[in-house]
Amino acid sequence: MTFRVLVTDEVALSGLTPLTGDDVFRVSSVEDSASDDFAVELIAAHVLIVRSTTKVDRDLIDGAVDLRAIGRAGVGLDNVDVGAATERGVAVFNAPGGNTIAAAELTVGLMLSAARSIPAADRSLREKRWERTSFRGVELKGRTLGLIGAGRIGGEVAVRCQAFGMDVVVYDPYLTEERAAELGVVLMDMDEVLARADFVSIHVPLNDETRGICGAEALSRMKSGAYVVNASRGGVVDEAALAKALHDGEIAGAALDVYETEPLPDGSPLRDAPNLVLTPHLGASTVEAQEGVATEVAEKIRAFLTSGDRSAAVNAADLG
Ligand code: NAD
Repeated sequence: MTFRVLVTDEVALSGLTPLTGDDVFRVSSVEDSASDDFAVELIAAHVLIVRSTTKVDRDLIDGAVDLRAIGRAGVGLDNVDVGAATERGVAVFNAPGGNTIAAAELTVGLMLSAARSIPAADRSLREKRWERTSFRGVELKGRTLGLIGAGRIGGEVAVRCQAFGMDVVVYDPYLTEERAAELGVVLMDMDEVLARADFVSIHVPLNDETRGICGAEALSRMKSGAYVVNASRGGVVDEAALAKALHDGEIAGAALDVYETEPLPDGSPLRDAPNLVLTPHLGASTVEAQEGVATEVAEKIRAFLTSGDRSAAVNAADLG
């Protein structure tokens, strides 16, 4: 049989090679998931692949009577009702690994941007100033990076920062000593990491344990010359507390890619906080990452539909 695959949300079609090239799958792409064309294709689709725009809710899932698999080309499943999919026996796949390098490289870029005030210097020059003394920065070499979370992305950040000559210490209660040794990092408790680090970079999932993990108390434990970087999830940093710490000079600077509310609200205290670099959730926004997440999810869907391998499904245990 031929499986019909419906793709939307500007998923990188060039990354879907595992589903093209033979007659097992027929891929069609409809960019606007609110359109009639999408609704028509959905009724017959065996597979739906989305990024984060389309809300794959219960109604949508119930309307797709032949649906067997949902692919999310990316990590977050906030826009997919996994419970409703499970009830219908639909396997859900995501792609947590495809954007690891993109997020790690952005993190290092944010560290350098904050340490050398690159965005502020650029703004100043465009405003026709030539300020060479206001932007005296610090070097990464010889400094300590404190990672909160050293999984896929944190691990890649560690490797890159070691190349800059940094020592890396880690707080990650779930990381094994073996993995820490492999990465050449030292595991410590959170307070020790905060006290030692010149740069604190956060790479944890957002959950009840990590929400607000970088709040007023954690900030108060950091060195006054410390920089905080967060390219993981909004909500792990308490934004009001961070803005206050920057205004009070409690830390030297910070850089954020993700926010409690996205897009960042106009009235956010972050907008006028000093020594702060802000990017609009660009961690996964590279050509390679967009292809990578599409390929990762396509490989999992191919294995599921051609050989019944559902081990990579996020709801594998509940599918029955
Ligand atoms: P991962 O699951 O590989 O690593 C997460 C690490 O956090 C694990 O090692 C885990 O043990 C650790 N951890 C869990 N709870 C912790 C806690 N309470 N304290 C300390 N450590 C804890 O995830 P990843 O792929 O490295 O992704 C990290 C984060 O980056 C996720 O939140 C992900 O959604 C986010 N992300 C953001 C972007 C972006 O666009 N900015 C792109 C990709 C991923």
